[in-house]
Amino acid sequence: MKIVDVKCHVLLDPDYDAGATSSAQDDIVVEIVTDEGLTGVGESDVNPWIARACIEAPGTHTMGRGLTEMLLAADPLDVEATWEALYVGSAMNGRRGAVIHALGAIDMALHDLRGKALGMPCYEFLGGAVRDRVRPYASLQPDQASFASYKASLAEWACAAQRIGFTAAKLEVTLAGAYAHLGLHAKIDRIVEVIAAAREAVGPDMTLMIDAQYSFPDSATCRTVIREWEPFGIYFLETPLPSDDVDGYATLVAEQPIPIAQGEWLATRFEFDELLRRKAVGVAQPDIGRVGGLTEARRVVQLADSAGVPVVPHIWKTGISIAAGVHLAATTGSIPLVEFLPRELSSSSLRRSLLSSELEMEDGELLVPRAPGLGVEIDRDALEHFEAAADRAG
Ligand SMILES: [Mg+2]
Repeated sequence: MKIVDVKCHVLLDPDYDAGATSSAQDDIVVEIVTDEGLTGVGESDVNPWIARACIEAPGTHTMGRGLTEMLLAADPLDVEATWEALYVGSAMNGRRGAVIHALGAIDMALHDLRGKALGMPCYEFLGGAVRDRVRPYASLQPDQASFASYKASLAEWACAAQRIGFTAAKLEVTLAGAYAHLGLHAKIDRIVEVIAAAREAVGPDMTLMIDAQYSFPDSATCRTVIREWEPFGIYFLETPLPSDDVDGYATLVAEQPIPIAQGEWLATRFEFDELLRRKAVGVAQPDIGRVGGLTEARRVVQLADSAGVPVVPHIWKTGISIAAGVHLAATTGSIPLVEFLPRELSSSSLRRSLLSSELEMEDGELLVPRAPGLGVEIDRDALEHFEAAADRAG
């Protein structure tokens, strides 16, 4: 079997708002096609035009080779060897950042393709499943631009998630900084009001997490503010500090007022290895596409597991990444939660409609798909619709 085509679909939600803090508004979907008519599909969380350039650019150097060129010469069943070849062959331009994020979509597609070719679900190639269902959490980020409505709607969304069956939810509470959603700005110590409203609304049993999205200027400010959150039983605090303030993260992790989660932007196991060695992460959050695909995400899980650090994958794209996350989580007991936003809670039309169906939830848990590969199917009309919107914008 040979790879005969690598298709990069750049997708955009026609109603996208560049002022919104949501990467679910666009997507790079990679399809890898073989001479036997099989197609594997993957995606990554990175500007899709940049990712397409990373994949389609021709090679001009022995270690600056084109990803597509290398793929066309690769054995599609030899997924781990292909990862290594692409990583080494692109090292002069890649190693980290966008090239690795793009490689993640390719690796995800190769996993899907291998599963389909051999008639086995992806988890079989990631070490085998140790469970048939995983616990999801809902990430809640309402479209509200004033503090009062933001607070009220987050509490309402948390209740909506609870009604669907979720036992865990994460509140995206970004009141300051470059990541502030739709221009929302309020004093950072007012986050406690949002947490109190949500806790009051959902009761004591629901697991609640907070995503501060890099909005604290330093660890001392963060420590002071989050002391007030302790009565509300927060499971983890995600990315409170700028991504490169590793010492600040280490300080917060050592003090452990609340477990500190981070890692959503990182590429390769090497970046996680540094965080783990410097004890700068309490919950590791690889994004499966960005980190370099399932091949690399699995290595991150192994590293984190050895360090006693749980993994909760970052997943803010479509059901393709959600399926990848569920397959990975099925293989280990060290992934306590998987990020999952069902259609009824998602404001992105792209995320709601790109796939023909979404994973089944039963008694608050996601059932691990047993179909070959990732077990997802793209809605071709939706793909064309979002591709046309990207063409108009790009
Ligand atoms: Mg986040």
